[in-house]
Amino acid sequence: MDLFEYQGKQYFARFDIPVSPGDIAETVDEAVAIAERIGFPVVVKAQVKVGGRGKAGGIKLADTVDEVRTHAGNILGMDIKGHTVHRVWIERSSDIAKEYYASFTLDRPNKVYLGMLSAEGGVEIEEVAANNPDAISMLSINPLDGLSLEQARTWVADAKIDDIAREQTAELLVKLYRCYVEGDCDLAEINPLILTPEGKVHALDAKVTLDENAAFRHPEWDEYRATETEDPREKMAKEKGLNYIGLDGTVGIIANGAGLAMSTLDVVNQVGGSAANFLDIGGGANADVMAAALEVINADPKVKSIFVNIFGGITRVDEVAKGIIEALRRVEITSPIVMRLDGTNAVEGRALLAEHLNDKLISEPTMLDAARKAVALANA
Ligand code: GDP
Ligand code: MG
Repeated sequence: MDLFEYQGKQYFARFDIPVSPGDIAETVDEAVAIAERIGFPVVVKAQVKVGGRGKAGGIKLADTVDEVRTHAGNILGMDIKGHTVHRVWIERSSDIAKEYYASFTLDRPNKVYLGMLSAEGGVEIEEVAANNPDAISMLSINPLDGLSLEQARTWVADAKIDDIAREQTAELLVKLYRCYVEGDCDLAEINPLILTPEGKVHALDAKVTLDENAAFRHPEWDEYRATETEDPREKMAKEKGLNYIGLDGTVGIIANGAGLAMSTLDVVNQVGGSAANFLDIGGGANADVMAAALEVINADPKVKSIFVNIFGGITRVDEVAKGIIEALRRVEITSPIVMRLDGTNAVEGRALLAEHLNDKLISEPTMLDAARKAVALANA
């Protein structure tokens, strides 16, 4: 679960990581009241779970009530990369001498934690990573050893953090590491971590992803769940009991089995397409399940073609074929459907479907052929 910036900062504060005082507003009047309470100058910050808000115009400094009004008015309701801004975080503005970057995440292949630290943080960190990777100091941390203050001191020197900021940054990194481990984060990122002209180091942004597998240890996460805005497609799928995850592409996917569904996403990508979703209809690919799956995918306006990829094992392909035929009777589908049906009783299944085939219901012999066809139709 991703947190909003303000929630991430509240989470950081639990672990004694310094953040700016602020409050959350849903209206312009609330924003003004908060600014007056915490004192000017303030920053008006769009709360959306996506990066690059600054570049998108979602972060503005305000010196006066009028400026808070203008900026909050502009930012509330703004669309940032497909996310509508419903709330703004108003915090005391900080003066910035330097912007650093710090994060902890999981290095899965090596089964260790990965810390990243840079003296060149800020909104251009992606460019730094691409063009000047040496400016980012990586530290692999064995979870059994943890991160000591001594190691953190060596690390900040390595990353060429300014002398005056080193001890504070080292201490902050140990706290951020504790937040990452004890707080059960998948990602704990601060960008920028700033040095103020007065020589103080603190977190100006917060990007936190919580590890849902640890939710049982964290009753306090309920408050974060309450503010989650569910993808309407995922909501609809959940109501229909489907194992569905929404993605951003144009090819709707229906497959049986999680492994096959993931392979289907891969093969769609491999041939130059992008999947609109992950959907595993499981073993019971009967008409009800198939109709529900098609309804959910059909309701996604981005979908331009649908790829049904079934490998019959215990599930027999002729049963699946009957399910598809019955589902098509019930649901009016806008996008063309490309099917790859293989496995147990594939011949019988294809025979059943033969008379229903047309330019909107297409059968292909292999997974790769079907992926190519579905992608071609999506891109047409
Ligand atoms: P992001 O663009 O979504 O990563 O949002 P950030 O919270 O990181 O803000 C983007 C940029 O806005 C930062 O890198 C800062 O340069 C600037 N910014 C944010 N808060 C302040 C502040 O309190 N004072 C000043 N001067 N700049 C700020
Ligand atoms: Mg940032």
